[in-house]
Amino acid sequence: MTIGGESRHAVDGQTLEVRNPATGEVLGHVPAASAADIDLAVQAGKNAFEDWRREDPAVWRERLVAFAKLIEQEGEELARLDVLSNGSPIREMRNDVNFAVESLRFYAGLASQVGGKTVPTTHDRLNYTLRQPFGVVGRIVPFNHPLLFAASRIGAPVAVGNTVIIKPSEYTSLSAVRIGELARQVFPAGVVNVVTGLGATAGDALVRHPDVRRISFTGGAETGRRIVTRAAEVNLKTVTLELGGKNPLVVLPDADIDSAVEAAVRGMNFTWQGQSCGSMSRLLVHRDLYPAFVEAVASRAESIRSGSPVDEETETGAIVNQAQLDKVLSYIELGKAEGARLVAGGNRLTEGDFGRGLFVRPTVFADVEPDSRLAQEEIFGPVLSVIPFDTYEEGLRIANSVSYGLTASVFTRDLGAAHRFARDVEAGYVWVNEVSKHVHATPFGGWKDSGLGREEDISELESFTQTKNVHVNFEQ
Ligand code: NAD
Repeated sequence: MTIGGESRHAVDGQTLEVRNPATGEVLGHVPAASAADIDLAVQAGKNAFEDWRREDPAVWRERLVAFAKLIEQEGEELARLDVLSNGSPIREMRNDVNFAVESLRFYAGLASQVGGKTVPTTHDRLNYTLRQPFGVVGRIVPFNHPLLFAASRIGAPVAVGNTVIIKPSEYTSLSAVRIGELARQVFPAGVVNVVTGLGATAGDALVRHPDVRRISFTGGAETGRRIVTRAAEVNLKTVTLELGGKNPLVVLPDADIDSAVEAAVRGMNFTWQGQSCGSMSRLLVHRDLYPAFVEAVASRAESIRSGSPVDEETETGAIVNQAQLDKVLSYIELGKAEGARLVAGGNRLTEGDFGRGLFVRPTVFADVEPDSRLAQEEIFGPVLSVIPFDTYEEGLRIANSVSYGLTASVFTRDLGAAHRFARDVEAGYVWVNEVSKHVHATPFGGWKDSGLGREEDISELESFTQTKNVHVNFEQ
């Protein structure tokens, strides 16, 4: 771990095994932090904060730019660490490095842009606001894009004078450990700390630490709610949450069919084995197009190449761990039991080298009942549910019928329908004739049970500051 600028094992010497989900091999061990380690990291962050918060924004910017450059230089190694521990194909994980580097540069550039404002009051009074850092910020991140989250989520807090503790997923900590080592080369000791360990111990201790007043969490919806509850038991913290989704892609009858079929498959993120919060896991197709559309999507899904994640040709890799694999397979059985029609995949790969790993073929169910569990619950695996609808109103109603509200997409050439959908759909991020794209500077985040707060834009930066109002009387 990186704590206070040093490489540390856990105080009690405990470790966690890291496995390669594509081969079953044990890759190594990482420290399993306990509350004692979290306390050390918080103390280190508090000590570093005293100087870091006083630095000029130019220093925050320069250090972040230098950090981004180091990550870029080590990009191939970092991508390979992610491939080994999370099973996604190498060509996808390289994109994650690029995203992280761009994100760090984006926040570096904004370091001097988070100012307060002056507020008109009376003639001889000056009223203004300051935006000031919280202090030590905890950021807990998931397994699906390990390096991307561990690295990019350092940018916003640090660019406005906070210090940060990153807690990666226990399954995919390797790239975060390396990120900690790189951070030591550019940041003063204690500005960036990386702790590894289990969510229920290390993560929970971070959430409950009284000196951490700002927590940002990316992960499952249930964990998110638990974190809010646990944090509130200790003191009042500002908590933001980026949670799951069961996102609808709605294909209206006038859509460009070829691009919609392509988008339906790409939007499901089979390339990360469906393990993405933004996956369009509900495909809602107008009945006029439905039979041909289902056939085209199924055949396109069947054509996706499963293989070793380190192989450059591989298009879909391994599921991250046994628990996640069991969950995916149980939902496939559930889909069959609920009467959905399996039109692609649905099986685990067991022949040859595949047998050592956790591989499931891209799976497509058609005729899924909108109210069934298959259509309502986040699987976080390579399982796409296709649902027909007859009218725009019905499509919209189905789109909005889940507890989540992260992303949504509509394919149509009708400008009016596109804008009505964008207005009426219950989601935090909407694509029109597009899927999956994240653009730096645009706010990403969920409605309903998909989260609280926004990230990837300037509001994320602002969310790591607290506002102070200053009222000055200059009458005499
Ligand atoms: P998870 O909730 O199991 O774990 C996420 C992180 O939280 C890990 O670091 C874990 O160790 C930690 N954690 C677990 N229990 C904790 C606790 N009690 N207290 C504190 N920390 C705890 O999620 P996961 O399985 O790693 O990731 C998958 C989930 O993440 C999916 O639901 C997915 O939709 C969501 N996700 C959301 C976004 C987004 O931007 N909205 C992005 C990626 C993933």
